[in-house]
Amino acid sequence: MQILLVEDDISLADGLQHALNREGITVNHVAKGKEAIHVVETFPPDIVLLDLGLPDMDGLEVIKILRQKKVTTPILILTARGSVQDTVSGLDCGADDYLAKPFEIPELLARIRVLERRISTTAESNKIIIGSISLDTESMQVKTDDRELILSKSEYMLLKALMQNAGRVQTREHLESQLYSWGEEVSSNALEVHIHHLRKKIGVEFIKTIRGVGYTINKV
Ligand code: CA
Repeated sequence: MQILLVEDDISLADGLQHALNREGITVNHVAKGKEAIHVVETFPPDIVLLDLGLPDMDGLEVIKILRQKKVTTPILILTARGSVQDTVSGLDCGADDYLAKPFEIPELLARIRVLERRISTTAESNKIIIGSISLDTESMQVKTDDRELILSKSEYMLLKALMQNAGRVQTREHLESQLYSWGEEVSSNALEVHIHHLRKKIGVEFIKTIRGVGYTINKV
């Protein structure tokens, strides 16, 4: 899961980035509306968390422009305004959900999971089951035949991205964007190393290599 956070309150953005990161969510952050539009078009996130009061333009305008450009990425509004009218306007402009500041992290996570299920090919609940592997996006538990598997955070994030998109090939670039935020230093074979470790834990057959492209999991 890779989120674009659009928020001009830098300390709030920092706090959110850390809190979400602990939950296996990669967050990239911009503080302005124009940057947000540019990023969504060039480096599409899975979900956008959008503050409405931005320094260069109104968040509602950002939503309108993205929807006019046929961008369907789920948008969750983070609003300090709290007024019913702003919320309604946001949803009317094409936002998917909203959360009034201040909010608790568990509530934000629950809203994110709802949007996550909408974009997943497999998830009807917080639990995704494919073959003998089950992955719970709420408890972050992974089990095989009821035995719990101990995965590193990167392994978990990778497996989740593949299982949520089972039946679709995930390119290397996309998977890397799920694991690392911008500017993080990553060795060129880091992804292969994680895949190697994952296969040792869940069996070599589960994740298929699509040579020169990336990886996939069959949707069975
Ligand atoms: Ca603001």
